[in-house]
Amino acid sequence: METVAVILAAGSGSRTGLSTPKQFLPLGGKTVLEHSVQTFCNHTGIDQVVIVTATEFIDRVQSLVRTNNWSKVTAILPGGKERFDSSLSAVHHFREKPDLVMLFHDAARPLVTEQIITDTLKAMESYDAVDVAIPTVDTIVQCDAAGTVMESIQERRLLWRMQTPQAFRQKTIQEAYRIALQDPGFTATDDCGTVLRYLPGVKVGIVRGSERNIKLTWADDLSLLEFLLSRPEQ
Ligand code: C5P
Repeated sequence: METVAVILAAGSGSRTGLSTPKQFLPLGGKTVLEHSVQTFCNHTGIDQVVIVTATEFIDRVQSLVRTNNWSKVTAILPGGKERFDSSLSAVHHFREKPDLVMLFHDAARPLVTEQIITDTLKAMESYDAVDVAIPTVDTIVQCDAAGTVMESIQERRLLWRMQTPQAFRQKTIQEAYRIALQDPGFTATDDCGTVLRYLPGVKVGIVRGSERNIKLTWADDLSLLEFLLSRPEQ
């Protein structure tokens, strides 16, 4: 099984309210991005790593690749406006490798573990698409578009919170986006959603993630991440 980790680092991180995109913020003496990339580079089941970033940050990422001696990083690709544009940049880059197993990971989840990667790769032996997720501890309610009134509450034991990595064979994710891009109403915040919606015949396997695998989103998350980093997983 040939594998590539795609580290998505082209977001502007506007929700943190900080001027630096969240993947370049400092965490435990490194940038958030470096933590994410390092874990995939360390994993023996990952053959290569590509980093997707905004054009203006390509030089900066190039210099991080040199400083860290990341020999598995084979390309730094330009991202796009939406997250799925950034994913598509990598899907397109590997268009000649339909059987390649691609693991898409949010650079903003620096505490992903080697165990999660191992479990994802194992699940890809049985599925063409896999998502890391954790059961929700909160009850989730669907509201109206304005967020003013509740519409319905789903059964909590069936609801999981999606994390990354999300893994696919290249041909599966490419086909899902080919169909999706013909839909004028297409939007997506993650890649599994595109497969679920546009390739309903494909079963998406679930791998148990971790409460520590949080996505840096708000400025306060940095303090939480610093704390978690200082306390290795039990
Ligand atoms: O915006 P969100 O929190 O969903 O971003 C998740 C990950 O996707 C982040 O690591 C971010 O850098 C990346 N992203 C991207 N290209 C975009 C938007 C987000 O690579 N256009």
